[in-house]
Amino acid sequence: MSETETITRTDVIIVGAGFAGVGIAVQLERQTEQSYVVLERGHTVGGAWRDNTYPGAECDVPSHLYSYSFSLNPGWTKMHAKQPEILRYIEDVAATENVLPNIRFNMNVDDIRWDEDRKLWVAKAGDAVFEARSIIMAVGYLSDAKFPEIPGLDSFTGKLFHSAEWDHSVDLAGKRVALIGSGASAIQIVPEVGKVAEKLVVLQRSAAYVTPRHDPHYTEAQKRMFERRPELMERIREDLFWANEERYAQRRGTQTLIETATKAALGNLESQIPAGELRDKLTPDYTIGCKRILKSSEYYPTFLRDNVVLEMGGVKAITPTGIVAADGTEHEVDVIISATGFEATDIPMAYRTFGRDGLSLHDRWDRGMEAYKTTAVSGFPNLWFLKGPNTGLGHNSAIYIAEAQLDYVMEALKRTHQGEILEVRAEEQERFMAELEALSAGTVWLSGGCSSWYVDPRSGRLTTLWPDFSFTFREVNSEFVEEAYEIEKVGASA
Ligand code: NAP
Repeated sequence: MSETETITRTDVIIVGAGFAGVGIAVQLERQTEQSYVVLERGHTVGGAWRDNTYPGAECDVPSHLYSYSFSLNPGWTKMHAKQPEILRYIEDVAATENVLPNIRFNMNVDDIRWDEDRKLWVAKAGDAVFEARSIIMAVGYLSDAKFPEIPGLDSFTGKLFHSAEWDHSVDLAGKRVALIGSGASAIQIVPEVGKVAEKLVVLQRSAAYVTPRHDPHYTEAQKRMFERRPELMERIREDLFWANEERYAQRRGTQTLIETATKAALGNLESQIPAGELRDKLTPDYTIGCKRILKSSEYYPTFLRDNVVLEMGGVKAITPTGIVAADGTEHEVDVIISATGFEATDIPMAYRTFGRDGLSLHDRWDRGMEAYKTTAVSGFPNLWFLKGPNTGLGHNSAIYIAEAQLDYVMEALKRTHQGEILEVRAEEQERFMAELEALSAGTVWLSGGCSSWYVDPRSGRLTTLWPDFSFTFREVNSEFVEEAYEIEKVGASA
């Protein structure tokens, strides 16, 4: 230990204060006397909802569903709340539930290590050292911006930034802007930038399926009603949840459902873009659902503006003053926005986390991310993932998934608090992963003819997405299974 290091000892360390990290902290506050610390690299809570401040940022899952079941919000202003409102909601929950005093902000965790002799986890962030018997990895996989590998990227002399690291000091009004990507972030940004830029060039590699977005505002009367009768919010959540579940059947490859969904999405394109070259360019060439089906009523019409250009095939090169499309067309631009997604399948934290015998999580995951019941990894005792491997959904609320995991992890934490060291057996993890692989086979994500961040490029396995209905996620992953673990008893205090 260096002279400047300070050591903080708690029962539990939580890494990350996004929806999942704040969620488990709330449960620890409400249900236990366990001490905990949340290590958060940012300046406030919120995770992706703190970082993604791009113009137009909002959630395409309705807010009455995309929120904690234990902290309903009668005040949502509209069906799909914008980023500042979602961030405020998480901040309010963290404050109201008294978890803020336990969060250490601006703590960039650079090393997490299992100490076999002392049977505890040691996390380091600079000179600050944290020790605990259990550690919760709530770092997410849509957390670290991914820049594309494009020749000349570093040579650009204008402004270049990622959608998740928006540079608000750059005024885009009257500027020539290039935007790389056509995913969920891009389709929210394009209409906003198209309105103000002198010229917007969108460099699309794959066209997206885009469906209309219905986004009614809630009236003051409705909000008052929700406040007085919370059961109305419960009912809305329930209806939204099951409507989304119905859509899931299509992802499993049922032909008639695929045809219906394709017809609806292409019908939306046809209703907004006249037949011809532009419509052809915006027509996807893979099976619907293979990538996230996007929602926007403003995206397609933006391409009808005189100042907006759509280039196909991605980017050939970046020059000091512009960007070159795949067909060689060069556009001089002042700003390049990279809406190119995240390090989702190969999370940076896995390189900095070491379990038994000093094995890194990255090396443990040489075929891609995996965890028993989506939370536990053999070789990493008393370490629990929230919103880690196989927890993504293309069709429903991520918060529902996180909450199912909270139940599992809270049960595990009760046991570790009583002095148990829990390590999932490798064969149980393998059996679970084989079941998931069997479920994944034949789904549109693996056979739909697209490439996406749902699939690990190293192994071709579906490692970020849950390949089944959301309600089965809860059935499978919310109940702790004692028999799957090697259990060592070391006494109640670490
Ligand atoms: P993304 O879905 O991974 O999209 C990245 C885009 O960048 C794709 O269009 C991709 O093209 C393109 N791209 C990547 N590398 C490129 C390269 N070298 N050259 C040209 N194009 C390149 O990332 P995202 O849009 O940030 O969304 C990630 C996830 O965040 C979403 O799937 C969703 O789960 C979440 N999200 C949710 C919301 C919401 O409303 N709930 C909003 C935003 C994001 P290809 O498609 O050809 O690979």
